[in-house]
Amino acid sequence: MIQEPVKVKEAPVELRTGNFEEVIRGYTQEEAIAESTRCLQCKNPVCISACPVNIDIKKFIYYIRQKDYAQAYFTIRQKNNFPSICGRVCPAEYQCRKACVLTKKDAVFASPEAINIHFLERFVGDYGKNNHLDVPVEKEEKFSRFKVAVVGSGPAGLCCAGELARKGVRVDIFESLHKTGGVLRYGIPPFRLPWDVLDFEIDYLKRLGVNFFPNFLVGKTATLTQLFDRGYSSIFLGLGAGVPGFLKIKGENLCNIYSVNEFLTRINLMSAYKFPEFHTPVNIGRNVLIVGGGNSAMDAARVALRLQKINGLPLNTTVIYRRTETEMPARRLEIEHAKEEGVKFGFLVQPKEFIGDDQGALGKLVCLRSELGAPDNSGRRRPVIIPGSEFELDCDLCVIAVGLSANQVLINATPQLKINQDRDLIVNPQTMETSIPGVYAGGDIVGGEGTIIEAMGMAKAAARAMIDSFIKQV
Ligand SMILES: Cc1cc2nc3c(=O)[nH]c(=O)nc-3n(C[C@H](O)[C@H](O)[C@H](O)COP(=O)(O)OP(=O)(O)OC[C@H]3O[C@@H](n4cnc5c(N)ncnc54)[C@H](O)[C@@H]3O)c2cc1C
Repeated sequence: MIQEPVKVKEAPVELRTGNFEEVIRGYTQEEAIAESTRCLQCKNPVCISACPVNIDIKKFIYYIRQKDYAQAYFTIRQKNNFPSICGRVCPAEYQCRKACVLTKKDAVFASPEAINIHFLERFVGDYGKNNHLDVPVEKEEKFSRFKVAVVGSGPAGLCCAGELARKGVRVDIFESLHKTGGVLRYGIPPFRLPWDVLDFEIDYLKRLGVNFFPNFLVGKTATLTQLFDRGYSSIFLGLGAGVPGFLKIKGENLCNIYSVNEFLTRINLMSAYKFPEFHTPVNIGRNVLIVGGGNSAMDAARVALRLQKINGLPLNTTVIYRRTETEMPARRLEIEHAKEEGVKFGFLVQPKEFIGDDQGALGKLVCLRSELGAPDNSGRRRPVIIPGSEFELDCDLCVIAVGLSANQVLINATPQLKINQDRDLIVNPQTMETSIPGVYAGGDIVGGEGTIIEAMGMAKAAARAMIDSFIKQV
């Protein structure tokens, strides 16, 4: 008989909304061993191919069972540069856990019985971090004559830099913001991904010799041609998707309507929740509406709720989404946590028009009800508006989280870069090389809004292709 899954400890709900401390506490050694013994060690471990970077999941779980946590750590790190990050934020329920043989056939996402691969990965990643286990490097002298410029310090850029630096290539990372990490820093709140976890990985890259240049907007501060003129052999573009989508409805310019990027950046990057100790303020609503159903919508909702709690207001934050919970792209855990914490949900609801008060600030949102029709291109059932279903919601703060698209500054400055109809970069899917020889790309700038591990998968492919091209030159 298969044992029950080992539950992970979490901060009590009544405490967690009053601060930005990490919610999931992670497995203890005993819990990790107990969970690892549930793994069937399948002959054909399908979980491995379901991981975008093909971590040897079967092997690292085997090592946990043997209490050889260092070997488990090295096993993961052979394929994944950031286990403590991915163990916290990977949508495992759509990836490795969904493929786990303990998931029910035809399930849309992983069954609860599936091995908690992500919690085990986090346990191992944190073990390595807390015990200062450095990954063995395979630096080769022959690569030291090559210098690569990485543009963007999100997971794609950081991963590409790590892969190259471990081989002995010299790497400089250029980042437009004043802090590094991309969405890991400015988008995902610290109650999901604490900054010390991210800083540990960035420090590791620094120890490998990677240089960081913040406040450097490639396309403005320097062009790609100017970077090549500085002696870089190749360039990697990990620009991400940071351009917010809007609803394009009446009243959207009223005060107190934020794009999700601005809202989360104010809170996470600029510490607005500690205003006036930090200089950037943020508005705190009494009736907050979040529009959207993805990870960024869940993050915005949980942040808005915390702001209400910290400021002594009644908790009143509602997510409205035009489909149903099943179609929501957010991680299941994020949806569960949001519900537990008190976020309310309005499904099959579409915004129609914002209405302001006499001060020009947001007062109400007029909405329409929808029902699900035939599937659209995404495979999800299309929301169809029900005629005459209008209703109003009180709302003094709204965050719009309806999709993000590719960052355009560098693309606009570099007409030789080929783009598709969504203005994402077109690359050779094997090598990740763009239309400019020697310029590679990966992450959300290529695939559109995706996941952290997918961005890392592309970055690894680009790093491999760069190394291959260097080998031909030595
Ligand atoms: C709020 C939010 C929550 C999310 N939650 C999850 C989650 O839980 N799990 C998950 O797997 N995925 C999640 N995602 C998606 C995931 O974060 C992205 O897929 C991933 O960050 C993409 O990595 P990237 O390196 O391509 O881009 P980014 O992380 O966006 O990093 C790009 C970096 O490039 C910099 N940059 C852009 N242009 C230039 C330029 N011209 N010069 C210099 N620097 C430049 C940007 O400032 C940024 O720092 C979330 C996304 C958001 C927005």
